[in-house]
Amino acid sequence: MSGSEIAPEDAAQHLSDVPEFDQPAAQPSKSSLKKAARREKLAAFKLERRAREKLAKKEKKRIKAEKRAAGELDSEDEPKPKKRRIAGPPFGGRVVVDLGFDKIMTEKEVQSLCSQLGYTYSANRHAGHPFALFFTSLDGKTLARLESLGDASYKRWTNTQWWSEGYERLWDTDPAVKQSIVYLTADSDEELTELKPDETYVIGGICDHNRYKNECLNKAQATGIRTARLPIGTYLADLRSRKVLTVNQAFEILVHWVETRDWESAFHAVIPKRKFDENKGNDKVKSMKPEKADSETVVVSVEELETNDQT
Ligand code: SAH
Repeated sequence: MSGSEIAPEDAAQHLSDVPEFDQPAAQPSKSSLKKAARREKLAAFKLERRAREKLAKKEKKRIKAEKRAAGELDSEDEPKPKKRRIAGPPFGGRVVVDLGFDKIMTEKEVQSLCSQLGYTYSANRHAGHPFALFFTSLDGKTLARLESLGDASYKRWTNTQWWSEGYERLWDTDPAVKQSIVYLTADSDEELTELKPDETYVIGGICDHNRYKNECLNKAQATGIRTARLPIGTYLADLRSRKVLTVNQAFEILVHWVETRDWESAFHAVIPKRKFDENKGNDKVKSMKPEKADSETVVVSVEELETNDQT
């Protein structure tokens, strides 16, 4: 060890050798003493409170355990098991929601549509075998509405893609992709029999309270892609019915089919029961105008969906 180095244990000693370190510390002021006392009191109080809270919690737990043992607990008192998605592998298929109808919708319809998009996303998040979910032709009032909801929460929706371009971009680089795309529309002559993991299903992102007919059919034909309607007629008594569903209902049926491979159970799970009942034993073609509750589906906002979803 060289002479200039100081071993740590000598350091204090060394410092006290220096005259200025020998000086008694300046007397603390009255107010700083008071402050220190207050701090100490507060710290003690906090410790005490924490100990009290801990005890209370323990006691509550003990009482609950006693009640449970005695069979005195109501089912509401019992903690609800958390709903957890049993995540399976993705289905493989793609669903595209075509938002290219913005200009022919009213502001209110756009609002309803955006709620339906929220439900669609939520259903996919909770699906056992989710789809790859694309939203195309995002623009105009729809874009503005989504931007205004939950601080543009749609941008944080997992496993979604948002394009300002139309779905035609899907076959930009490979025209053969076109063969694997099916536009779903109630106006098609073709009936969908099954979903295939290597196909893409387009849902028209339009809420129009049945003002329009053939909008999606015409668009699909103009862009040269196949069309198909969901096989609802086969399962509803009224075979001639043209059942027009909302975006999220159409999507949820696809999700259920993937899970059950059974159209009937998928329709029963998604379409309100009265829709089936009202068709029972009825041979006359009914007006297929969906009732308000079905076509609007504005129950919770997209923000609410988002927060509920984060659990
Ligand atoms: N009035 C619009 C339809 C709006 S319904 C039109 O003229 O096309 C919204 C979307 O849900 C449709 O574009 C379609 O993709 C889907 N959809 C609703 N009912 C359907 C059905 N019975 N079969 C297949 N797709 C359906």
